[in-house]
Amino acid sequence: MNNVTATPSQRQSLLQRDLTSLKGVGAKVAEKLQAMGLHAVQDLLFHLPYRYQDRTRIAQLGGLVPGQSVAVDVRVRAADVVFGKRRALLVRATDGTGLISLRFFHFNQTQKNQLAMGQRLLCFGEIRPGPTGLEMVHPEYRVLQPDTPYTPEQTLTPWYPTAEGVQQLRIRDLVGQVLPLLAHLEDWIPERYLQHAGLPDLKTALYTLHKPAPDADTEQLLSGTHPAQQRLALEELLAHHLRLRQTRSAQTQWRAPPMQADSVLTAQALGQLPFSLTGAQSRVLSEIRQDMAQSYPLSRLVQGDVGSGKTVVAMLAGLQAVASGHQFALMAPTEILAEQHAATLRAWLTPLGIQLVCLTGKLTKKVRDSQLAQIASGQAQVIVGTHALFQPQVVFASLAFIVIDEQHRFGVDQRLALRAKSEAKGWVPHQLVMTATPIPRTLAQSLYADMDYSVIDELPPGRQDIITRVMSHQRRQDLIDRVSDACGQGRQVYWVCTLIEESEELQCQDAEETAQSLRVSLPNARIGLIHGRMKPNEKSEVMAAFKAHALDVLVATTVIEVGVDVPNATVMIIENPERLGLSQLHQLRGRVGRGAQQSFCLMLYGEKVSAIAKQRLSVLRETQDGFVIAEQDLQLRGPGELLGTRQTGLQQFRMADLQRDMGLLPEVQRLAALLLAEHPERVPLLIARWLSQGEKYASV
Ligand code: ADP
Ligand code: MG
Repeated sequence: MNNVTATPSQRQSLLQRDLTSLKGVGAKVAEKLQAMGLHAVQDLLFHLPYRYQDRTRIAQLGGLVPGQSVAVDVRVRAADVVFGKRRALLVRATDGTGLISLRFFHFNQTQKNQLAMGQRLLCFGEIRPGPTGLEMVHPEYRVLQPDTPYTPEQTLTPWYPTAEGVQQLRIRDLVGQVLPLLAHLEDWIPERYLQHAGLPDLKTALYTLHKPAPDADTEQLLSGTHPAQQRLALEELLAHHLRLRQTRSAQTQWRAPPMQADSVLTAQALGQLPFSLTGAQSRVLSEIRQDMAQSYPLSRLVQGDVGSGKTVVAMLAGLQAVASGHQFALMAPTEILAEQHAATLRAWLTPLGIQLVCLTGKLTKKVRDSQLAQIASGQAQVIVGTHALFQPQVVFASLAFIVIDEQHRFGVDQRLALRAKSEAKGWVPHQLVMTATPIPRTLAQSLYADMDYSVIDELPPGRQDIITRVMSHQRRQDLIDRVSDACGQGRQVYWVCTLIEESEELQCQDAEETAQSLRVSLPNARIGLIHGRMKPNEKSEVMAAFKAHALDVLVATTVIEVGVDVPNATVMIIENPERLGLSQLHQLRGRVGRGAQQSFCLMLYGEKVSAIAKQRLSVLRETQDGFVIAEQDLQLRGPGELLGTRQTGLQQFRMADLQRDMGLLPEVQRLAALLLAEHPERVPLLIARWLSQGEKYASV
């Protein structure tokens, strides 16, 4: 079909054709392609190479370095079967400018005969360093007659992601078949914008990536910074951003129960508190309250540094739901934290006659059943829990307000599962998410564009800076003396083992050994141990004992990282801090400095620590400001690390890499505004192109 005469819907259907419409694709192959995420012919256009080989010219062996992917034209000097670690056919060959070894681990007799002395070979492969100079392992090769000229390829040769049963050559062939369809692909980004930004249009970008010119900048291509790739990354980030904005505007169409603040109850609750709210707490609380009074669900992200007092804000907002005859649920990422929240809230709410249950994974069936009954009947007005809250058995009488604490630990799906809990009521509960991981503004605006944003940017008065020291492991004995002093003065100490973060089991072992050795060095101190492998009951007993000051020192793994609140603890010791991100260390440090006493955080780095790592840690010594620390983390380790790997949205990008492409985010916002103003009809099309599950987010 001629591209000029085709109507938009004809174009669309050409691009959406089944893969079986291609030559050589039967039902079996189509199934394998589907497993790779390739469904329609258009998907092949977006299936991009991850590297390239230069077959446009013959390289000279003399000038090659390891890592290059090249074509060479050589003659065989010798071919031997060698018996090293693995039996291999080793062919030595030359082109007159240098020598190369070709190594084959799998070969047959025919091949062996073919690769005999004097034979001319055209080899394609990656140059590697070998025991006797440059090597190619299992190169693709062709036997050439001595006088045949080599016909070079016109473009760099792409290497595509493959799968079992779908070979490289097959993918190349299929992409070759669909490339002419590029003509039918619509570019949703205005040409004017692209010209201004110096980026190629969609067709050019995709064509360039499938068939780069011989002189294309391969370094850029490999690192993803080629303008063709940047253009696609920009479009993908734009699609995600627009999807979130769509979700946000869809929310105003949803129904939620409007709720007014109850001034009597609020005054009673405030009277229970041993402190008055900070200005920032009051401001954020009133922002939330205004949202709750609306008849569509609030969706707000509350950021507040460690210790800024988010819990009490959540509680006071929750009262508004309770006062209106509805339920309020608070979800925490760990059992330790859920239990702590339950205890805190119970102390505040019981005097007001409000019923609370705490639902975690460890309950006996009997207790659990009784709690479920209370939640279903509405007798329980406040429900605190872990992710146990969104299991299907949990049926709420009237859930109207949800607070998710330390939300970066949960995925979007989990958030949404809780929202669905009020479906029977015909509404979507108001939802607040709280985090102490400060998300720099650019990131927040792009990744949380579906939410409003509040910051508790003030700490309660009287907090002193936590004196932070970074020191070598060799000073462990000094440290033990300090711990001993602190315990002697009635203070409590956390001792955190971070070694071998990748393996929970080893981490727990390490903590056990540390506890053992501290019991020997500190015979007068009462030492407890808590780690992720302990049973939930054991964990809460230890936590309760520490809270009640029946323990002086708590040896722990990073399970205590978030939220734990024991104001009498004033010393935090962190072993091998170099293993953690700065924000995570800041979180750990935030376990102390919660009372009026001067607190300390002492970090003991290991022996093999680099100068750079030490310098990185010094940021913590210099500042207590979580935002400054997060900015540093972002630069050093990238957003994936900062927000946690479970952060939905981060793992899903096909083209974009947030760390590499952070600089595109302001452009994403500009472009989104432009598109929404001038071409709103393109927005759903763009989203559909990049996010096949887009609807899921918008329609819950
Ligand atoms: P985070 O924001 O890290 O979750 P928390 O809510 O755990 O902080 O509060 C930290 C500590 O500060 C708690 O012991 C809490 O009771 C106390 N706190 C909260 N708000 C105030 C305030 N306005 N004045 C004094 N102490 C407060
Ligand atoms: Mg907290």
